[in-house]
Amino acid sequence: MKVNLFFIVALLYSVGMNAQQPAAKHLPIIDVHVHAMKMNPAFAADMCPWFLSDMPGGDPNQPPPAFINTDCAMPLKAARSDKEFQDSLVATMKRLNMTIIASGDGGIIRNWQKAAPAGRVIPSIGISSSNEMTVVAFTDSLSAGFYKVMGEVAPQYAGLSPADTSLDAYFAAAEKLNIPVGIHMGTGGNGSININNPKYRASLGNPFLLEDLLARHPKLKVWVMHAGYPMVNEMIALMGANAYVYVDIAGMIWSYPLAEVNDYIRRLVQAGFGERILYGTDLMVWPKLLETSIGVIENANYLSFDQKRDILFNNAVRFFRLDEAQYK
Ligand SMILES: [Zn+2]
Repeated sequence: MKVNLFFIVALLYSVGMNAQQPAAKHLPIIDVHVHAMKMNPAFAADMCPWFLSDMPGGDPNQPPPAFINTDCAMPLKAARSDKEFQDSLVATMKRLNMTIIASGDGGIIRNWQKAAPAGRVIPSIGISSSNEMTVVAFTDSLSAGFYKVMGEVAPQYAGLSPADTSLDAYFAAAEKLNIPVGIHMGTGGNGSININNPKYRASLGNPFLLEDLLARHPKLKVWVMHAGYPMVNEMIALMGANAYVYVDIAGMIWSYPLAEVNDYIRRLVQAGFGERILYGTDLMVWPKLLETSIGVIENANYLSFDQKRDILFNNAVRFFRLDEAQYK
């Protein structure tokens, strides 16, 4: 009885002590690949991470394959409203001491900026075809100062190479204004062409397609989104020949089979590029995807503590020329 009382008193005392001390700050994380979009409950389905572990054969005379899978123990819930998503995003950003680079709906990005701590939402402007915006309008948008990054540039879905000359003037503007550029290369899911992207071509995700673009714009700072998955050999060759190219691991980190994801990241690190990998989620409609994806890096037993810190924070500070002190 006496012992129990002692424990209870000790417990209460320690709880009281903890309540008086502010919780230790989480080491900072920069997520370079977030999509700001309006929530649409009619289209936003729940999702099982690493759903591309099963790619059944099917038949062109049958309905196309399901893009995502919801049959698992813990599917991630899609947010039902903009407010629900924003509240969850901002709470996670505060808890994990996060900064995000967000592209997409300008109104949503502005709302996030108001709700998140100052400077923690960095706006990015995406353009994937010259039909979307004139070069003058694009240059004006960058010059106005709101947008600090260009991305996601995803010409692959439109059947274009990133080196297509129709995009060249946009890259020239980014180069002149010192704006880093993120280009989608590689991943498209299972049956992307059959489901909803008839112009998508796997071959247009080949990292080598960037070489002409880089040669034309030697001061352009490019990162390859999705790390050119699954073309790791080409990715390594491109990064070897072009010293300023980085990659992010967004999207692939939670969609392809987990062992495959880890093999891919391990291969890039093993090849010597641990300081040129950026953490990214490809966050869209599932708030808990942040924890799911960050967990892959946190739990990667093939990475040292320092390598994890490089991927989660240090590499992005260097690539985006950020003032480190502001993000700690
Ligand atoms: Zn992408």
